[in-house]
Amino acid sequence: MIYRINEIFNSLQGEGYNQGRPVTFIRLSGCNLKCSWCDTDHTNNTPMLVTEILDKIERYNCRSVIITGGEPTTYNLTPLLTALKENNYWIGIESNGTNPFNNYYHQLDYIAVSPKGAFLNQKVDEVRVVNDNCTTEQLQQIESKITATNYYISPKDENNNFNILNSMQLIGKINALSANHWSISLQLHKLADIR
Ligand code: SF4
Repeated sequence: MIYRINEIFNSLQGEGYNQGRPVTFIRLSGCNLKCSWCDTDHTNNTPMLVTEILDKIERYNCRSVIITGGEPTTYNLTPLLTALKENNYWIGIESNGTNPFNNYYHQLDYIAVSPKGAFLNQKVDEVRVVNDNCTTEQLQQIESKITATNYYISPKDENNNFNILNSMQLIGKINALSANHWSISLQLHKLADIR
């Protein structure tokens, strides 16, 4: 199985429940959506075998990986997940939520969804939404479809200025209507100016 790799790098998880956790990111190229604001270069990638991916991440001496994209679920992830589990990695994934995780639940340690497009009804660990003029109706629609343990809103960054007040007001409104508890997650990697 060949995976088209956009980049592999070691950093920390900048947002959500695992914020601050040192991880190696495996960024897969390609997506099933075409969001107008997308900043991922889907044309620039290196085809790699599972053994080559493992070789590369072993160099970072970090036992946690996050598979991101693009959209990771556009690939058959079983060979990669199986190899990572055999080598005792903690595995997180980041997805737009448009494909089911059914085949992967038993191998993934943490599933985070930033819902986009026609996202599915499913159960995950985390929902993350960037507050770009979100409405309570949008958030209610998301939580009615996606069951998660953690729900986060990240204030949109405007050149490292985060409109936290606006997000707090939004959270106040949604939490008054909701059985879930949305929280703010500042994007640490942007504050620290790292990848
Ligand atoms: S879902 Fe994410 S990776 Fe895919 S096109 Fe939209 S922003 Fe880009």
